[in-house]
Amino acid sequence: MSTTTAPDPRRVALWAAAQGWHVIPLAPGTKVPMRGCDRCSPGTKDRPTPSYVRHDGHGCECITAGRPCHGVLAATADPERITAWWTHTPKAGVGIAAGPSRLVILDVDCHGGTSPEDTAELLPGLDLPSDLTPGSIVDGRDVLALLCEARRAPYLEDDRTLTVRTPTGGVHLWFRSPAGMAWRPLAGALGWQLDIRAGSSYAVAPGTITRAGAYLAQGRCRAVTELPAWLARDLDRTGHRVRAERPRVVLPWRPRSAGTGYVATAVRGELSAVAEAQPGTRNGTLNRAAFRLGTLLAPGNLNRAQVTDALLDAARHAGLPDREAEAAIRSGVSAGERQPRTLGGAA
Ligand SMILES: [Zn+2]
Ligand SMILES: [Zn+2]
Repeated sequence: MSTTTAPDPRRVALWAAAQGWHVIPLAPGTKVPMRGCDRCSPGTKDRPTPSYVRHDGHGCECITAGRPCHGVLAATADPERITAWWTHTPKAGVGIAAGPSRLVILDVDCHGGTSPEDTAELLPGLDLPSDLTPGSIVDGRDVLALLCEARRAPYLEDDRTLTVRTPTGGVHLWFRSPAGMAWRPLAGALGWQLDIRAGSSYAVAPGTITRAGAYLAQGRCRAVTELPAWLARDLDRTGHRVRAERPRVVLPWRPRSAGTGYVATAVRGELSAVAEAQPGTRNGTLNRAAFRLGTLLAPGNLNRAQVTDALLDAARHAGLPDREAEAAIRSGVSAGERQPRTLGGAA
């Protein structure tokens, strides 16, 4: 490290929050999140924290109370909370939680190592020039250059967005996520020595000094530009995109047909249980219902087709695929039919 005056971490954190980013304090001199309170910190294998209580950090009261527990889960853009954290630990470094900050950070490693023998592993899924010699690829920068070339895109490190040089000589290219898109972090999925920080991961803010060296913005560009569409497509292709599952629309469910009296009540009960079964128990619930209704099959009461149709309808409501549902119904009804119930005097 040279003697350049290090920026005050609190000012770095407040600057980041002013960009709308969510920050966490890093343990002074390191790039790891600051340790939380004893109750929330398991410690290490060699030195476990005695008063640690195993619990899920999501919804932990420490976070609501403003304590920097559970790493990125505590990330905030609230200037008051930030001021309190850095007043307490003025030398804490600044980490930026990618997901809540809507950032996608391309981490280009330059830590040497031998590049894969098979050039197909450099950028999985991409056709690379056939004359490429493996020895010509030394680090992540070369792989990134190849990717940009393959996409006929300008070289990304060329002052197009905030670029942070890391102590190990790598670079972090910071991008804004396009609206409505969510991402997950993966290491090496895009290409050799190309990692993605997004979602639940974080990056060290420029201006943070660790014992290994400084994270410094390079070039002149300090703006974070939107993730280029071509790169967004490549990240999607390589499994970084998170697509929200469509929530199942649950409507009040009514059985279509259901005899009368005792049988009707039994049918309604079984069908509702199937329709409202949760993933994980749906198949078993359906099979048991089919068995019970199978025991009631009798001329004048219920016929097999009616039962099958009504059960299938309920199973669809529960979100079970038809093929799975049909098999469960068939085996359940058949087993039930072999043990008929006599309805002593019931209607
Ligand atoms: Zn805590
Ligand atoms: Zn906790």
